[in-house]
Amino acid sequence: MPAPLTLYDNYTRTLRRFEPLDPAGPVGVYTCGPTVYDYQHIGNFRTFLFEDILKRVLRWNGYAVRHVMNVTDVGHLTSDADTGEDKMEKGARRTGKTAWEIAQLYTDDFRENLARLNIEDATVLCRATDHIREQIEFIADLERNGYTYTTSDGVYFDTARQPDYGHLARLDVHGLDAGRRVDVGEKRRPTDFALWKFSPPGQQRQMEWDSPWGRGFPGWHIECSAMAQKYLGDYFDIHCGGEDHIPVHHTNEIAQTEARVGTRLANFWMHGYFLLLDNAKMAKSAGEFLRVQSLQERGYDPLVYRYLCLTAHYRTQMSFSWDAMDAAATALDRMRNGVYALRAEPPAAPDAGSVARFTGELNDDLNVPRALAVAWDVLRGDLPAPAKRATLVKFDEVLGLGLAGWVPREVPVPPEIRALADARAAARRARQWSDADRLRAELAAAGWDMEDQPEGYRLKAR
Ligand code: AMP
Ligand code: ZN
Repeated sequence: MPAPLTLYDNYTRTLRRFEPLDPAGPVGVYTCGPTVYDYQHIGNFRTFLFEDILKRVLRWNGYAVRHVMNVTDVGHLTSDADTGEDKMEKGARRTGKTAWEIAQLYTDDFRENLARLNIEDATVLCRATDHIREQIEFIADLERNGYTYTTSDGVYFDTARQPDYGHLARLDVHGLDAGRRVDVGEKRRPTDFALWKFSPPGQQRQMEWDSPWGRGFPGWHIECSAMAQKYLGDYFDIHCGGEDHIPVHHTNEIAQTEARVGTRLANFWMHGYFLLLDNAKMAKSAGEFLRVQSLQERGYDPLVYRYLCLTAHYRTQMSFSWDAMDAAATALDRMRNGVYALRAEPPAAPDAGSVARFTGELNDDLNVPRALAVAWDVLRGDLPAPAKRATLVKFDEVLGLGLAGWVPREVPVPPEIRALADARAAARRARQWSDADRLRAELAAAGWDMEDQPEGYRLKAR
């Protein structure tokens, strides 16, 4: 019997055995989705890949999964401290399109890249702007329960009302209060946050709605609490996001939900750690960032990036480098060719011992790097070929590298290369070894390897 599934919960800061809240129903998973004011970068996709692996591991353990992901298309301000501009309106100005147009453009791009990385779609993908009514109702309940106050620019959540506010991040609320280095405007405390922001007087925003408090737009955090509750209920199994969400966004989601229904929203709080570029968090706001398309322009299959992410545990930061991409490309190529070479093997059952080892690693808080090492052991080991293939194809249900269906890309051979190869084959037949060697070197310099076979030869682009 492999070990039961254990996951690291950031709320309790412990590794905990995972047991579904509802043994009969699907496991409820909510993951914070993209803010669609710009393209998503490969750092964002590292977090989405971690969440994809989580879902696959849950299913590997026999659970059905109901996955809800939001699309933030309003209300995320350029500063997490509720100041600055709405990222969507700023993005609209940058591109010369409307906020609605860029939301659609970047959502489409996001979804195309999910497919390129073999990340499965959410069961429900929900937009903040489609759930304004639910957010207003949420805020009205908070007001009724006495958790809000109004300033000249919006309705705020009063964090002083909650003795355990900030538990997730272990925030030192009093220290923050005493420090007060940041200008908090009319907020009573630095940790208080906007639930509803008023449209600036005399200005028409592209995205604004009427509410009991005045015309305006919802704060960023309220959308996730409202949509998570709508689609998954008051208390569900697992909530995920990137590590940057711990101190503000998730802390505030928990605060709001506790104030409305008395739960901390989810049983497990899990976070993907950053992808770093030049020792700093890869960030859209930092200007230069890499997209999946940037990798493709350099000739990488997007699944090479998926493989690269599998080599680091989700709770460690990972530095991006082109050398690491090259190493991942070589490894993925070897693994794919290894499975391809077994394609003619008759169907067989996966090897039970290897499956148990693989499960043991996955169930140890998603230790995918070690699970990947088990896959390599199987590929290089001495299991009978049919069992070897069946085991690796089974592992791919979690790895998602498309191993079963992969075929080597047929690169068209240019006529001059074909002529060189024919000349070399003729030289070999005539036992003119030095000519044959010279022609092989010419082919190699042109980027082609020639493999001699009993009946002729095979050309492989490097
Ligand atoms: P955003 O589009 O900024 O709302 O972010 C989408 C997701 O990507 C969130 O879960 C973020 O926490 C996560 N994220 C942002 N930057 C990075 C990064 N450099 N590495 C990993 N995840 C990130
Ligand atoms: Zn969220």
